[in-house]
Amino acid sequence: MPDGYKVIIIGSGSAGLTAAIYAARALLKPLVIAGSQRGGQLTTTTDVENFPGFPEGVQGPELMELMRRQAERFECDFIDEDATAVDFSRRPFRITAAGGTMSAEAVILATGAGANWLGVPNEQRLIGHGVSSCAPCDAFFFREKEVAVVGGGDSAMEEALVLTKFATQVTIIHRREHFRASKIMAERALRHGKIHVLWNTTVEDVVGNGSVTGLRLKDLKTGGLRDFKVDGLFVAIGHHPNTELFRGQIELDDQGYVVLKRSTMTSVEGVFAAGDVHDRRHRQAVTAAGWGCMAAMDAEKFLEGHDEVH
Ligand code: NAP
Repeated sequence: MPDGYKVIIIGSGSAGLTAAIYAARALLKPLVIAGSQRGGQLTTTTDVENFPGFPEGVQGPELMELMRRQAERFECDFIDEDATAVDFSRRPFRITAAGGTMSAEAVILATGAGANWLGVPNEQRLIGHGVSSCAPCDAFFFREKEVAVVGGGDSAMEEALVLTKFATQVTIIHRREHFRASKIMAERALRHGKIHVLWNTTVEDVVGNGSVTGLRLKDLKTGGLRDFKVDGLFVAIGHHPNTELFRGQIELDDQGYVVLKRSTMTSVEGVFAAGDVHDRRHRQAVTAAGWGCMAAMDAEKFLEGHDEVH
């Protein structure tokens, strides 16, 4: 494996792999630093019904495997490890991964985003044992059970609606008395017979030894604490971009998302970004793929010396 690349892509979700397909077909022989959990967020989903070209739907992990195989058909190197350091202070840029440092004339950042957690004492211990951030992945395990969803945005509404297909009762726990979610999503949730809402309430802790048996709730109006029996907790309080590695190297906004200057170019000429790492709004497999395509095309133009990205 060479250490001097024209393009290095960091991340292997929908954005990174689409960038890889385009960069490889442009004969740029890219390296993809795919990460130790290759495949991105789609590997933690089940049915994907809105990715064009799959009229019957496709499983998230399968879709990512297909994208990877498509990239591998062309000349493209992969490292299934995390990038641990980057230096974008001058070209060629330098990236450390798997104990080695590689250089690249252009870099595409496609490290995506991850779920936010509440940070209450027993939450992390019970992830996978009743605590989840992904209803489409885990709702199936809550057949005939009672579950709670925390959050008041579109994600919380969506998670709650998915859960109604399996659980007997779904309680949305929200810290205010209005949802942030779009009207249509909020109404769909509020009208659903299986969904109940606890307003002005926070989750202070998750209760359970081997698996979740309940929640410790706080009523923000009275300050009162009480236990609430549930078999599962779905945390839907937003996401954070995976950009810690880039802090101090490129411009990030106040929430840590990569700031784009023109097209997919970041504040450093030759460093591009694609997908959820900068797009907090859409967060879809297909939009991330679109951004990946754009970033690869921008990188190609940049490397050709006619910097036509605008
Ligand atoms: P979001 O809109 O930022 O909502 C996060 C929710 O979690 C808010 O209601 C917030 O409460 C609450 N929250 C945040 N931190 C909390 C904490 N520590 N404890 C308790 N509650 C907390 O995030 P999102 O729902 O993930 O949506 C993100 C974006 O994706 C949005 O633009 C959304 O429209 C979009 N999206 C769209 C769809 C769809 O259209 N089908 C589906 C999913 C997401 P406050 O309201 O009090 O701030």
